[in-house]
Amino acid sequence: MRIDASPFAQIDSIVAGRGFVDSSTSARIERLQDAAAPAGPLCLSIAEALRSLGPDGDVLLFTGFVVPERMPHGENDGPLGTVVLARALKRLGLRPEIWTDPQVLDTTAWLSAECGANVGVRSLDSPHLKRRIPSVAIAIEKPGRNRRGVMHTFDGVAIEAGSISVDDLFERWTSDGVLTVGIGDRGNEIGFGRIADIVRAVLPEAATCQCGCGGGVVAETPTRWLLPSAVSNWGAYGLAAALALLSGDVGCMVRPSEETRMLQIAALRGCVDGVRRRGTFGVDAVRGGVCLDVVRTLERVVGDALEGNEQKNACA
Ligand SMILES: [Zn+2]
Repeated sequence: MRIDASPFAQIDSIVAGRGFVDSSTSARIERLQDAAAPAGPLCLSIAEALRSLGPDGDVLLFTGFVVPERMPHGENDGPLGTVVLARALKRLGLRPEIWTDPQVLDTTAWLSAECGANVGVRSLDSPHLKRRIPSVAIAIEKPGRNRRGVMHTFDGVAIEAGSISVDDLFERWTSDGVLTVGIGDRGNEIGFGRIADIVRAVLPEAATCQCGCGGGVVAETPTRWLLPSAVSNWGAYGLAAALALLSGDVGCMVRPSEETRMLQIAALRGCVDGVRRRGTFGVDAVRGGVCLDVVRTLERVVGDALEGNEQKNACA
C-alpha cells in the first residue's frame, strides 16, 4: 500500500512548533529537520524503521536531564515524551525499557503508571546496562558531550554532576549497527552530532558555552536518526502519532487529559520546566495550554488521516 506522506509532513511541522511557538524558532527547527533528513518526512522514516523491526524488538529509551544546583530532580522535558513513546512501542509488540538518571527514576515511574505504560524504568547507574545490545536505542532530551567531552545545559553551563553520560553507549551501538534515534530541541542533546556543524550555523548561541572548555554546547554524539523538535516531548509525541498512523492504533498517542496529569505530576515531584527552572504547568518556558494545543492538533491530524483512509477503503 502506498503511504500518503502529507499527514506525516504535518506532524514534522507540528513537532517543529509551527503555529505554536514564535515563527523564527519553528523555522530554525525546520532547517535542522531538513538537514537531518533531506528526503521525506522525518517522523515517517523513523516510524517505518521502528516498525520494520517486527515484534519482540528490544528497545531501550533514555531520558533525564539533571543538574544538581539548577534542576536536582530533573526537568519535565524528556520523561513525559519518553513514557508516551514507550507505551506506543509496547502496543506495537516491541519490548521497551526506560533508563534514566537515579534522581528522575521515581518521577518517571509515576508518569509511566499514570498513563498506563506498564514499562520497566531502570537507573542509569546500573552496571548491567553496558552489557546490553538492544535492537533500538532512543535518547529523548538526553545531554550529550561536546567535542571537548563536556555535557552542557542549553545555555552553556557544564554538567559536571547529575545526568550520567550515555554517549559511549550510543557511539558503540551506532557503529555496531544498532538503530539509534535522538530527539532533542537545542542541539546539546545526544543525536545532534549527526548535524553538528549545521546546528552551530543555525543556532549561533549553541556555538559557545560559559564553562571555558571552548567547545560550545553542541553534542558531538550522532545517532542514525535525529528528530529535531521545538520541545523534545513534542518530538516523542509526534513519533508516537506517526506510529499510530502507520498502525491504525490511536491508542499509541498521548491524550490531552494525560498531558495535563503528567505535567501536574512532574511539577509536584520537583521535576521542573528546564528554562524557567521551577515546577510549573508548562515545558521549556512554553505554557501548558500550548502543549495541550500541540497534543490536540496531533490527535486531529491522525484522526482525519485515518478517517480518510477508511473512506478510501470503503470506495475501493
Ligand atoms: Zn563548555
